[in-house]
Amino acid sequence: MEKLLHRLRSILDDKGLVTASSEAEPYLNESRGRYRSEASVIARPVDTAQVAAIVHACRAQKVSLVPQGGNTGLCGGAVAGPRQLILSLERLNHVRELDLVNNTITVESGCILANLQQQAANASRYFPLSLGAEGSCQIGGNLSTNAGGVNVLRYGNAREQVLGIEAVMPTGEVLSDLNGLRKNNTGYDLKQLLVGSEGTLGIITAAVLRLYPYPDRSATALVALRDLGASIELLQTASHASNGSLSSFELIPRLGMQFACQHIPDCKDPFDRPYDWYVLLALQGSGATLSLDAILQTLLSLTLEKGIIVDAVVASNETQAERLWRLRGGMVEAQRFEGGSIKHDISVKVSRVPEFIHRAVDAVIERLPGIRPCPFGHVGDGNIHFNLSQPLEMDTREYLSLQGEVNRIVLDIVADLGGSFSAEHGIGMLKLEEMQRYKDPVSVDLMRSIKQAIDPDGLFNPGKVLP
Ligand SMILES: Cc1cc2nc3c(=O)[nH]c(=O)nc-3n(C[C@H](O)[C@H](O)[C@H](O)COP(=O)(O)OP(=O)(O)OC[C@H]3O[C@@H](n4cnc5c(N)ncnc54)[C@H](O)[C@@H]3O)c2cc1C
Repeated sequence: MEKLLHRLRSILDDKGLVTASSEAEPYLNESRGRYRSEASVIARPVDTAQVAAIVHACRAQKVSLVPQGGNTGLCGGAVAGPRQLILSLERLNHVRELDLVNNTITVESGCILANLQQQAANASRYFPLSLGAEGSCQIGGNLSTNAGGVNVLRYGNAREQVLGIEAVMPTGEVLSDLNGLRKNNTGYDLKQLLVGSEGTLGIITAAVLRLYPYPDRSATALVALRDLGASIELLQTASHASNGSLSSFELIPRLGMQFACQHIPDCKDPFDRPYDWYVLLALQGSGATLSLDAILQTLLSLTLEKGIIVDAVVASNETQAERLWRLRGGMVEAQRFEGGSIKHDISVKVSRVPEFIHRAVDAVIERLPGIRPCPFGHVGDGNIHFNLSQPLEMDTREYLSLQGEVNRIVLDIVADLGGSFSAEHGIGMLKLEEMQRYKDPVSVDLMRSIKQAIDPDGLFNPGKVLP
């Protein structure tokens, strides 16, 4: 490490190295407090050349690197061991090019997602990736985890936003594919190999991203459903009736509404009676001809008439829409006030979401009467955050000791339905066991061969993704 430090000092400026324990703290703690990095050195390069030089230096000293973005990941992917270097991309945060004809923006990987959205908006364009951590996560982290969020239904995951990537590879070479082409069939799509690889194959330093027309119109409603099955009927009707404008479709259970209203100051149930299931839906569009309010009203009348929904609240302005979205965010925040929570980020085919929730809820209640399921999230993508709050009177440590058993119960049902044990958060260190148990072995072997071919010495993010 001493030799490496000496070399790093010659590559980086004064602000490029963090070694003091007080300054290192934000890089070492992981967002859920489940893991803690043991690294003693954090490198903060300012450009791609410095990243490449650091990789060369680490290679020479056989020290592994862990790339880190905003450190908001939920699977321990950016956590480093004792003789590993954290490579923070936070200072690579410039916009390199904005091309309004090609509708693309070329940004460095340390750009914070909210800043990138704002840069696009300043140019009357829209960058649609949106998630709870957008104020601190970085686009490099978003791409490396192929992040999802609340607009996937209409715009796709992070993967769908990428037209080019620049990355430093484990050899120290720079893969430069920033041409921004929409059509380019010239062999394997390497940029897509890097997307979702969680820092195990390359360090992303820049990307070309798609931009869309800024949606200057939106219409938002919170509806109460007849029952859980009605969520899928509503989704189908909304998809047909919305003329392609349906952008979000988020499931909220009664318990989630209750948690938000009880613990989060500006959250209030807008209905005058409780319902079991709600959906928060949003339409977005641009252009004067499209009346999203009219589309929403027609959709609500139709689905009320058919008995799919039983009540609805429509936001009549942006403040009211924000208040409805606050319930969605508040539900997530509030869960920490309810003791231990065992969380799952799963996906099944959209058509099987109700079946999954019914089966999984019954199974966990049978195992532990009093457990409080709070399944919520991106039902329009078949992605449910199946979170389970502890029984009220139970000791939290005792509850969390059941995590492995409860995971198995839930994830066996997911597997039986042909779903995925990790929909949008990735694998990191957290889901290595599940990777071994549920992922097709042929896929895992192929992934190992790819890792071996690109990074034979295991220099980049060892111990992540592959069991
Ligand atoms: C409140 C909250 C809400 C969230 N909501 C969502 C959600 O709705 N949808 C969703 O998908 N996720 C969500 N997440 C998870 C998280 O925000 C995302 O995974 C995000 O994309 C991670 O970005 P980051 O910059 O923080 O990456 P980090 O946490 O720093 O890193 C994540 C992984 O990417 C690697 N990495 C980071 N930067 C690079 C790079 N430049 N090159 C190569 N590898 C890199 C790291 O090594 C690590 O393996 C949420 C998290 C929080 C805390």
